[in-house]
Amino acid sequence: MHHTKKVLVVLAGLGTLAVALLSGTALAQEQPRALVERAAEAMGGLERLQELDNFVVTGFGQYLYQNGGGNLSPHPRAPVKWQAAVAAERSFDLANERAVNRDRRGLLFPFANERGHSWDETSTLQTGVAMLDHPLPAVLEALDPETGFGPVHVEDGLLVVEFTIETGDTLWMAIDPTTDLPAWVRWISGSTTLGEVTNTAWFTGYLPFDGVRLPVGITHNVDWRDATMSYFNVDSYRIDVDDPGPFPEQASAPGFGGQVAEAQATQIAEGVWDVRYGNNGGGVIEFDDHLTMFEAYGNETATLARIDLANTLVPGKEVTEVIVSHHHFDHSGGVRAAVSRGLTIIAERGNEGIFREMISRPAPNFPDALALDPQPLKFMPVEEHLILEDETMRVDVYHAVGHLHMANAVFAYVPEHRIFLEGDFTTWNWTWHWWGGAYLDSVERYGLDPAINIPVHGIVTTFDETIAAIEEQVARARAFCENNVASGIYMAGCPAKYSRDASDQED
Ligand SMILES: [Zn+2]
Repeated sequence: MHHTKKVLVVLAGLGTLAVALLSGTALAQEQPRALVERAAEAMGGLERLQELDNFVVTGFGQYLYQNGGGNLSPHPRAPVKWQAAVAAERSFDLANERAVNRDRRGLLFPFANERGHSWDETSTLQTGVAMLDHPLPAVLEALDPETGFGPVHVEDGLLVVEFTIETGDTLWMAIDPTTDLPAWVRWISGSTTLGEVTNTAWFTGYLPFDGVRLPVGITHNVDWRDATMSYFNVDSYRIDVDDPGPFPEQASAPGFGGQVAEAQATQIAEGVWDVRYGNNGGGVIEFDDHLTMFEAYGNETATLARIDLANTLVPGKEVTEVIVSHHHFDHSGGVRAAVSRGLTIIAERGNEGIFREMISRPAPNFPDALALDPQPLKFMPVEEHLILEDETMRVDVYHAVGHLHMANAVFAYVPEHRIFLEGDFTTWNWTWHWWGGAYLDSVERYGLDPAINIPVHGIVTTFDETIAAIEEQVARARAFCENNVASGIYMAGCPAKYSRDASDQED
């Protein structure tokens, strides 16, 4: 045993020397474990860190809404939307390799239902990679006996250590050679809309707390549009508290449309079905030799389930194209899946860029249907009005107007049956409506006469029921704003705007 160990050490030494000679940099010859141990020394001493039982960090921050896929337009320079996190408290149970994050979150833009503005306390269990976006657990995990090291490389003057933890996940830690402190930790995660993303959590502003040097700023970036996913400002650290818990039983499922359901089809008119997966879905329309679906909602599972069910509705006819109402990442969560099936994507012109970004991303570590079967994007743009028509069916696709939730959006209309198909124009049980005028503004602009509404969210209703629901939602939004102002709270979106009457101009 002793002999083998010595041989390995010698080989490792030769390997390092070779790397140093080839790269011409003295930095890259560092041994990864020694580097991480130096970081531990800089943070307060390896023994001190390894003796810690737990620590609690508190503060406040902002999270990018829908990972940057929830903006008013899909343009890379569009203003982004933020979710605030306050009363944040994250407890790291180092002894048991778990953490719990608690905070209260509220959207800093108007949202249609209570969960957006309730500031309810969240409580999320974090294990494995999810708790390593902080240098203290990351350094300890990197030095865990179960961890394996990869080669060291240099990036922008930082020494980067690759390490693979016992779960099989590989991460990278950058160490600043001037301070020996960890500058960032990087990991790869799966993404419904983007295939996968490379995440980097930056650690800034180290201060000593009970003799342990810890960062007071954590900023999380991804390799899509170099987007900043979150900012976290620390306002306290407590080391080895008596009771860091409680810890929830299970980690919550990430992503949209996490519900498990079966796709269900309901015929609405001749040649028109509502095909839904759980609460969300949209129409499927029969043409002479194919079917057209509305929305690739949620994720791969939901979208493929809807396509598969739609393909059974009429013998010999399959879905060949999908109308996507707008780019928001819940509404486009199935675009990669739809492209993997060769479907043409029909959407407002401004979405071509973002959809091209979404489908062109490889996902070797988290392969989805598109990564396993790459297909090119077939995009059919809608300027103001696109007619889909053959001998048997006509569908009009229009650019939505007056919609301050989504500028580059379309809806569809089946004139023969007076059916209006939409995403985010309304939902029967929304609490508030902040863009309530868009429905009638769009109906009037294009001279339509709808009788039935098929929404992406919720249930099929008559046109009259739809408009009545919108009017109630607008009235509730106004009351909500007035109540907030009475408490000295001035919310984004207030006073609620409604283009269908003049009263918002009187406010
Ligand atoms: Zn929506």
